[in-house]
Amino acid sequence: MKQEIQQIQAEAQADLATAQNEKDIEAVAVRYLGRKGALTGFLRNIAKLPPEERAAAGKQANAAKQSLETAVRKAREELERRAPEKTAAIDISLPGRPAIPGHTHPISQIMQEICSILERMGFSVAEGPEVETDYYNFEALNVPKYHPARDMQDTFYISENIVLRTQTSPMQIRAMENQTPPVAVIAPGKVFRCDSDLTHTPMFHQVEGLLVDENISFADLKGTLTAFVHAMFDRETALRFRPSFFPFTEPSAEVDILCVMCRGKGCRVCGQSGWLEILGSGMVHPNVFRSVGYDTQRFTGFAFGMGVERIAMLKYGIDDIRKFFNNDMRFLGQF
Ligand SMILES: [Zn+2]
Repeated sequence: MKQEIQQIQAEAQADLATAQNEKDIEAVAVRYLGRKGALTGFLRNIAKLPPEERAAAGKQANAAKQSLETAVRKAREELERRAPEKTAAIDISLPGRPAIPGHTHPISQIMQEICSILERMGFSVAEGPEVETDYYNFEALNVPKYHPARDMQDTFYISENIVLRTQTSPMQIRAMENQTPPVAVIAPGKVFRCDSDLTHTPMFHQVEGLLVDENISFADLKGTLTAFVHAMFDRETALRFRPSFFPFTEPSAEVDILCVMCRGKGCRVCGQSGWLEILGSGMVHPNVFRSVGYDTQRFTGFAFGMGVERIAMLKYGIDDIRKFFNNDMRFLGQF
């Protein structure tokens, strides 16, 4: 009995030692441990032994089964460990896989370009919170609660007095609170409005500009914006100022540039008008100066705000603003 088990065990070990691959190991496992295997058959026959021999035989056979199972597992592990060496014929002369370097997002590129042009003119950059109080986003900018002008923007309200800023204009107030004129700041950053279609996304970028000093006139505004547009596009790009309304400027003007696609002839992009709207601007409303305690008799100033995505779309001829945020590498890789 004991000899029989030892013999099965020895044969199994010998077979396992000559196994070359997974298939060989599997064959050994089936031959001895499978349903019709030698050890399994032996275990099944224990019931037929005389009662006094059963316990000892069962114990021995189970021990043999366990040790063989362990041996099979070890053989498999060993095979796995050796596998890479056997299969990996590495050709060290092959060129490596290039790592694709990232680059600046087109919106960031345009934003940096806008800021760099305006900084060269003497504006300094100011940044502020994206989650803003109702006071800075509206009230201090001459938009009291319940004023109809609030309907011009679909606002994300966090609570009654906290909003996601709908414009970078709150930075005008924060900048003026912290200094006395002359003030020359630009505020680039994200703004949020509950709006989404071909030309609107719930989050987009603006650059705000503010200049306050004695004797600042509309001519200074026109000169600054003309110089900016010539630097951003080219010197042939004409500007047009259209009367408009913003609560925090008076008078207000929307600025169009000559269509960059058709040069004024009229095309699909400009809706056959030959002009493209590019930014809003105006002379700072006296009520805004009053909210920061500036002397409205002594100081005047102008402000302007532009959408960065809008300028990027005009500059690159892109018709769908959502392309900037879809993270499609085929699109982003072109910039
Ligand atoms: Zn056009």
